[in-house]
This record gives sequence, structure tokens and C-alpha cells, in this order.
Amino acid sequence: MNKITRYILLLLMPAVFIHCSYSQTSSPKKITKMDSTDQKNPQYSHTDSKQVNMPDAEWKKILPADVYRIAREKGTERPWSSAFETSKEIGTYYCAVCGNPLFKSDTKFESGCGWPSFYEPISKSSIIYEKDNSHGMSRTEVMCGRCKSHLGHVFDDGPPPTHLRYCINGVVLDFEKAAAAEKQYNDKKEGS
Ligand SMILES: [Zn+2]
Repeated sequence: MNKITRYILLLLMPAVFIHCSYSQTSSPKKITKMDSTDQKNPQYSHTDSKQVNMPDAEWKKILPADVYRIAREKGTERPWSSAFETSKEIGTYYCAVCGNPLFKSDTKFESGCGWPSFYEPISKSSIIYEKDNSHGMSRTEVMCGRCKSHLGHVFDDGPPPTHLRYCINGVVLDFEKAAAAEKQYNDKKEGS
């Protein structure tokens, strides 16, 4: 996005993105955030589907501060602050708290709302839904289906086929590139 487009979008933001409201301060922009928690997080797994029930006091010891604030205290990152928002890389997005697979990159779309947006989760066990009437709005909160961490909200103004927009905080996502897609991409690059 160039500077002018961004400026215009920022000007329009209060009117257009009312559903995507945010209430808390930012975290610094990160280019990549790959499994930053897995070194000392015994719950982190991309394959274990067993529910995780750990008290927040324990999570606080393990998680980076920005992840803890959003995931466990239902915080919201500053719009446009996540490198995932515009990323077109092919792969899988996981819960940064527990590693649960959440979204595939082929269901990601540019919503323009300032947060990474998807139209469909990977499976029923990816997401838990809950009514959220905070901040004077009626919204549906989405949480990780495995560890119940706050991820963001879902709205009904997304693209087909689901017409849903999962508006997710990039801080609570881990991304892993699809190995096959990466190879194809590199082969193509070398060939051209
Ligand atoms: Zn999780």
C-alpha cells in the first residue's frame, strides 16, 4: 500500500471500520513471528488437539507480554500493525498461544480493516464463538478452540462462500509456510 492510499484509509477509518473497533495500545510491528513461544511453552503443539486449561497466572509466565495482553486479557492490537495483514504467503496460521491450526492462507483476504482477515477457519475445533457486548457494541468474539485465547471477532460482511469476516489480531497468530508451495515458488523464481 502506498503512503497516499494509507493516509486516505486512515482518514476514512473511523467511519468505515466501526465494527473493527479497538481499545488498547499497540505493539511494535513485526515482520515475522514464528513460534516465539514454543521454546518454553509445554502446551504448544500443531498436532495435539487435547484441550488446554491453564490458569492465566501460568500463561503470564510463559507468553510474551503482547501475546498475553491480547490472548488472555482480550486486548486488541493497533490496526495496520501486523505484517500478516497484507501477507500473501501460502501456508497455515496457528494460535500463537497453543499452536492450534486456525486458518489456511487461501481463506485470507484483504478486508481493508487493518487486521488479518479470513473468511473460514480450518475446522470446527479451530474456533469457539461467544457473544461480546463490550464497548457498546454487539459483536461475536472468536477464541481459539483449544486454549480459549481471545483471537478477535467475526462479522457477517465477508466475501463468498461464507460471507464471514474473521478479523484476527496478528499478534496471536503464528504462521508456517507450506513447504510444497514454498518449493514451487522458489522453482518458479529460478526458472524465470
Ligand atoms: Zn490456542
